[in-house]
Amino acid sequence: MPWDDQFETMPVDKLKEFQLKKLKETLEWVYEKLPFYRKKFDERGIKPANIKHLEDIRKLPMTVKNDLRDNYPFGLCAVPMDKVVRVHASSGTTGKPITGPYTAEDLDQWTECMARNLWAAGVRPTDIVQNAYGHGLFTGGLGFHQGACRLGCTVVPTSSGMTERQITLMKDFGSTALFCTPSYALTIAERAEEMKVDVRNLPMRVGVFGAEPWSIAMRDEIEVRMGIKAMEAYGLTELGGPGVSFDCEAQDGLHINEDHYLAEIVDPVTLEPVPMGESGELIFTAIQRRAMPMIRYRTKDISRLRREKCACGRTFIKMDKITGRSDDMLIISGVNVFPSQIEALLLDVEEVLPQYVLVIRKKGYLDSLTVRVEAKPEVYALGTEKRSEVEKKIAAHIQGMMGIGVKVDILAPKTIARSEGKALRVIDERPKG
Ligand code: ADP
Ligand code: ZN
Repeated sequence: MPWDDQFETMPVDKLKEFQLKKLKETLEWVYEKLPFYRKKFDERGIKPANIKHLEDIRKLPMTVKNDLRDNYPFGLCAVPMDKVVRVHASSGTTGKPITGPYTAEDLDQWTECMARNLWAAGVRPTDIVQNAYGHGLFTGGLGFHQGACRLGCTVVPTSSGMTERQITLMKDFGSTALFCTPSYALTIAERAEEMKVDVRNLPMRVGVFGAEPWSIAMRDEIEVRMGIKAMEAYGLTELGGPGVSFDCEAQDGLHINEDHYLAEIVDPVTLEPVPMGESGELIFTAIQRRAMPMIRYRTKDISRLRREKCACGRTFIKMDKITGRSDDMLIISGVNVFPSQIEALLLDVEEVLPQYVLVIRKKGYLDSLTVRVEAKPEVYALGTEKRSEVEKKIAAHIQGMMGIGVKVDILAPKTIARSEGKALRVIDERPKG
């Protein structure tokens, strides 16, 4: 049974009817309250009343991150500040942070979306949840906190960092669920092994991970090393934070909370819709939020949409695991490459640790890619000959699977900084300008 039986299993035609109603209300709302949208709609000669079907959404202009930056901090806030009860801000991975204001009702809806997410992941009121997402402006910490509170879990708000203490508390409190980024989960797993704590023998049984791209291979790695189910959450500050979409027990794509978010996929270059099931950029419209509704927000996240019957019984459309952000996409020898694809291939190689960073440089007119990856201590100890053998083996594996030539540098264990939040995967050494 899902958390919300009314919406999560609603027949698709009913769901679409509901979406259209909420979309229309939201369009009236932004047109009336926000000069930013009114101007953009007027320029296209569109009035909210012109939107009669869900497909008509394509007539509306898109919104991009720079629109939020240009209107920093509260230019896209549609309610007076005395109606704003919370403000979050993005972690600023790709530049100046953007803000996210909430009314009391927005907060309530967000909490509900997170409750669905956690419930679908198998979290229950009896769980002791250790919430190791950063608490503060970042939406991860408080978003998960609220959702777990609504479920009635025992919440331990550790926030991120102080990894040894995380492990001690995990052991002492008998935490059964862990919330953090996948890269931090890996950091915790590694530190626990060093502390001779076997997480597989602790009560810990489920993790809800998100906020950064991670491969299925990484999910498997975390599941095996920690002896838990690794479930997923997806969201972004611009849309209110995590809880936009979530894993169910099928672990086969993330259900989008469709009564709150209208999803589209477009070609990132032409911005034209791509056929259902094809890969492209996710565009979301937040159809219930009031402080900062978003019309056709370009996420830069690359995925695929699938409308299909799911074993869990939910009718919400599914999106594939994010392959990456279009910002992080590298073009090597004419091939589009996302860090998560390289990650998956590195996890096939038994001599190395899943700790890597990709360095991109300019070589003539072309970009070149160097994969830096840490060797396992026992492999590193075998000396330079063994290391160069592993380097060649990885380069050949990547060449074979992706058809691109890369340079591989084997590093000593522990040379790459361990992540406590969103991992840094790409270092761009190309000349600027
Ligand atoms: P920032 O853009 O500063 O990182 P946010 O903290 O709002 O801001 O992060 C939102 C972004 O994080 C998303 O657009 C997406 O790129 C990434 N993200 C969030 N959840 C996931 C997930 N489950 N898988 C892949 N990427 C994710
Ligand atoms: Zn499902």
